[in-house]
Amino acid sequence: MQVLKKSDPEVYEAVTKEIERERNNIVLIASENYASRSVLETQGSIFSNKYAEGYPDKRYYGGCDYADSVESLAINRAKELFGVEHVNVQPHSGTQANMAVYFALLKPGDKILGMGLSNGGHLSHGAPFNFSGIFYKPYVYGVSKKTGLIDYDNVRKIAKKRKPKIIVAGASSYSRTIDFKAFSEIAKEVKAFFLADIAHIAGLIVAGLHPSPVPYADFITSTTHKTLRGPRGGMIMCGAKYARMIDKMIFPGIQGGPLIHVIAAKAVAFKEALSEKFNSYQIRVVKNAKEMADALTQKGFRVVSGGTDTHLMLIDLTDKSITGRDAQAVLDRAGITVNKNSIPYDDKPATVTSGIRLGTPIVTTRNMREPEMVLIADLISQVLNNPNDSVVIGRVREKVRSLCDKFPVYEDIET
Ligand SMILES: *Cc1c(COP(=O)(O)O)cnc(C)c1O
Repeated sequence: MQVLKKSDPEVYEAVTKEIERERNNIVLIASENYASRSVLETQGSIFSNKYAEGYPDKRYYGGCDYADSVESLAINRAKELFGVEHVNVQPHSGTQANMAVYFALLKPGDKILGMGLSNGGHLSHGAPFNFSGIFYKPYVYGVSKKTGLIDYDNVRKIAKKRKPKIIVAGASSYSRTIDFKAFSEIAKEVKAFFLADIAHIAGLIVAGLHPSPVPYADFITSTTHKTLRGPRGGMIMCGAKYARMIDKMIFPGIQGGPLIHVIAAKAVAFKEALSEKFNSYQIRVVKNAKEMADALTQKGFRVVSGGTDTHLMLIDLTDKSITGRDAQAVLDRAGITVNKNSIPYDDKPATVTSGIRLGTPIVTTRNMREPEMVLIADLISQVLNNPNDSVVIGRVREKVRSLCDKFPVYEDIET
């Protein structure tokens, strides 16, 4: 980045510091991943310059030959990856993907039923301060207080009572397998559309580690940057009969020009995800999560729902006399990056919370395995049991640093 270094030292410095941060911390943010150099190179490519409103072979601008090539590659690879009839790879984000589906199906004031935010759902599933809760009438389902699992009988009860026009399944902090078939049956019973939002678990689905919603859902939305390990962005999948409706709603409905550099990087990520190596990576992500959940349980932490089937877990700190907010801050000082997260039926506000969310996609991308998960669980336990002890925190910081040195990442990025 020698050109940037000369032209804009301030931004250059932030970028180089971010590279150091990503290298030298144990990042356990469940929604993040470290994309490959190929994905990053493509995303930073010259396609950033190109306007290509429309779709391959149906553009509003000249000079779209190569934009057509990369978008077609992305579409065809995604179709193969998920086994779907139609894919739109243009949504700028997961939220944008959900917005297009809602705008295509619903009128303002229509009822939507999604998982409550405090129970693990996403903002865009009807949170009152999100467009999805402002334009539409949101109803929520959640998890059982006793088990921490989605209570499907209760979902059915609410659906029958409220008669939503769409039911959304999918979550941001739910660690268990989601029964898409059960959701689709409930949706049929109340004549609602069924949207499966696989933003978090797309990579697991590709590898066959989580059941696919493909035979059951009317629409599937996803991000491409979480377990899928691609560039930051979204996508929509559906049957051929809805193809035109969805494409028209993304463009010209809610977006203008597509981000061709990002779409090109999506194509690269989809090719990576079609490989055998990607499957074994996902297997290790899930194994590592189980190992970390077990190790933390042995250290006396309560894992919501008792464990995990996926890449993430939610730790309940209620008995630990530390809030989620303070846990996040003190772990940060020790070089361990997590996010505070509400636990189901949390009595603290979302800015404080009683929990933290942990995920294993990034540490697995760095090739860490079960022994390192046990070590990380031990480091977390030391910090959270001694949040005011600078000596302990300093010692953990050093151990984090040497673990990062043992599992290097982005070594060959030129700065
Ligand atoms: C992350 C996430 C999204 C949205 O992703 P953005 O790209 O941040 O808009 C949507 N749905 C679920 C379930 C998510 O976890």
